[in-house]
Amino acid sequence: MKRNILRGLTLLLCISLTLEGSDSSVRERLMGAAYLDNQAYHLLEEMTDRFGGRITGSKSNEQSLIFLQEALEREGIESRQEPFSFPGWVRGKDEAILIEPVKRPLRAIGLGYVQPHPSFAAEVTLIDKAKEEEITVELKGKIGLVPASVKLSTKTIDLFAKERGLKGLLLINRKNGGQLLARTQHREGSPSPIPIFSITEEEGHWLKRLIERGDAPSVQLTTRSETKPMRTANLVATLPGRVSEKVVIGAHFDSWDLGQGALDNGLGIVQAYDVARLLKTIHPDNHYTLEFVWFNAEEFGLYGSYAYIEKHKNEPIRSMINLDMVGDPIGINAMGFDSLIPFLEGFSEQLKALSFKRAMDNKPWNGGDHMPFILTGIPSITLYAPIKEESSRFYHDFGDTFDKVDETTLSKSIAIISLLAYQLSNNHKLHLPRLNRDETIALLRKAKLENSLRESGYWPFPD
Ligand SMILES: [Zn+2]
Repeated sequence: MKRNILRGLTLLLCISLTLEGSDSSVRERLMGAAYLDNQAYHLLEEMTDRFGGRITGSKSNEQSLIFLQEALEREGIESRQEPFSFPGWVRGKDEAILIEPVKRPLRAIGLGYVQPHPSFAAEVTLIDKAKEEEITVELKGKIGLVPASVKLSTKTIDLFAKERGLKGLLLINRKNGGQLLARTQHREGSPSPIPIFSITEEEGHWLKRLIERGDAPSVQLTTRSETKPMRTANLVATLPGRVSEKVVIGAHFDSWDLGQGALDNGLGIVQAYDVARLLKTIHPDNHYTLEFVWFNAEEFGLYGSYAYIEKHKNEPIRSMINLDMVGDPIGINAMGFDSLIPFLEGFSEQLKALSFKRAMDNKPWNGGDHMPFILTGIPSITLYAPIKEESSRFYHDFGDTFDKVDETTLSKSIAIISLLAYQLSNNHKLHLPRLNRDETIALLRKAKLENSLRESGYWPFPD
């Protein structure tokens, strides 16, 4: 009981500190303007309709980046491109054609880092287990069909290709409705040894039934996509504070090419834009510096956020907020950084009436632009902000288009993110130390992330 009272008092103190460090009229102006003066929605509509998806290395990506830069400039916000090199990939006309028992093209796409490969036809066999030793069927000269529930690691695929003579892979998508799932196969940008395709759930299950009936379906694969070194750029805009210590607000800029990348991550692009604009207009004089960063080449393997950290890691980065597919924010995640907890509890408390009902999370997750920051020990924040299944189901496919964006939810997310950015960049009583190497390793181990980081090639600490 006593503990509860103490905890309540600490929380009240934190809220009053948060509010004192801010001032409630700024809070209300920021949040009101996010709803009444939202520019994000129309900016996103224009960008996605004029330029389409923003796969890194494409003209669409370059043009969209300049479009964003010009929009910032109109608001008096200067931005700069920071170029970097990475192993790029260009989609060619990859084809999968069912040959037996009937001839027809399959709806399929090559995965990232698939290489040019001349046409060949082969029998399709089922790979329904993830562990190499559990797959006892003959793979030599065959194309493997993999159900959505089976996750083959890059290592296993390489082994199947090199030691067991597997010739290609068809990965069945996890969503129905003729959808595909664009993504990279080889995380470190190394070329895939065999053609690997995403195929629809419907056609995948058709093939599976044929195999189970003993009808030995055969498929012809051709790949023309190609890995090649590329140069691209992150976009960076700085709102100087009274001190050089800074809070980074990041969102990945690139998307896949099949749709418009409106949700993934058009949302994050325009959220960061509008938060920068609102702060510049309503409260330009902040204690800490705010740095807005649009990371490129995230979808190919977080290349932009790694390039940013490589360039800026010795600067006093105090904290980072990552905006990736932020829909309707109902909670927040301290990502394992205990130093953030009192502040984020106070922050959440103010938003309870605005549907911030979920208890705070404190667990990092793998696979976003926050990862290079976390690996550098920088306290990082993500929002728990779901997007309705009827829209999010189009993730990484043709249906990720502007019509899925909900204007009111977008306004609400901008209201919440701008408040977060404002309070985080003005709360100078909050001590946010950067974790050292051992503390960072402890944080990752506690979250059971070591294995997945090692498997995906992101574990940076030598043994
Ligand atoms: Zn994303």
